[in-house]
Amino acid sequence: TDFGFQQVAKNEKQLLVANVFNSVATKYDLMNDLLSFGIHRHWKKFTLAHSDIQQGHHVLDLAGGTGDFTAKLSPLVGENGRVVLADINPRMLAVAKEKLAHFSLLDNVAYQQANAEALPFKENSFDRIIIGFGLRNVTDKNKALRSMLHVLKPGGQLSVLEFSHPCRRSLASAYHFYSFHILPHLGHMIAHDAASYRYLAESIRMHPTQEVLKKMMLQAGFKNVHYKNLSGGIVALHTAKK
Ligand code: SAM
Repeated sequence: TDFGFQQVAKNEKQLLVANVFNSVATKYDLMNDLLSFGIHRHWKKFTLAHSDIQQGHHVLDLAGGTGDFTAKLSPLVGENGRVVLADINPRMLAVAKEKLAHFSLLDNVAYQQANAEALPFKENSFDRIIIGFGLRNVTDKNKALRSMLHVLKPGGQLSVLEFSHPCRRSLASAYHFYSFHILPHLGHMIAHDAASYRYLAESIRMHPTQEVLKKMMLQAGFKNVHYKNLSGGIVALHTAKK
């Protein structure tokens, strides 16, 4: 019947849409792996190990992107816990939903479009906030830090994982060469997109140093601010308490 035909067509379209999203997510994840030589997985594992996530926790995965953190957080907080994956980009949220549907996670994950500068959550909502490779992209970082403090519970922890600044000069110059001369070419070859990877390198260069970010977090009102350099300071994990 006509109905039957339309039904098939509809399912095919859904499949097509799903495939497009999957290919975006897969490409995005593949680029992360290639450009960081797979080390971003280690940086993310380190972040989770230093975020003291417990069963029952309410955790905000801010600027969650394709959901790498959320996939790991969902089983860690368990059935009585909750993970909110928030991202400013609705397409990214759709990609995350589509990808995480394949992970058969617990029914404890929610998706929320949100700007880190003005988080749409009640005061004292979360035990933990993790923002991975997101703060760099936020326009008003001080405003975002204040917004995170507001929605964090007293005693709660914020973990900021972000590209930072290599400590040793030799590493800094090799890294500079990689990010400004090799990375855009790789971006062009693999993703047909040199401009985005040039932007990536520039945004990393402009990002506050480890010490400056620490001061910004203290100024926003966080306590116990510490950071650990990873891969010689190419990346840093800042942790802080409310
Ligand atoms: N956290 C994920 C990870 O570590 O793989 C994704 C990181 S991805 C490089 C950066 C994400 O930040 C993007 O999904 C982007 O949409 C999001 N983003 C950028 N500006 C934002 C803002 N102001 N508020 C919330 N999310 C933002």
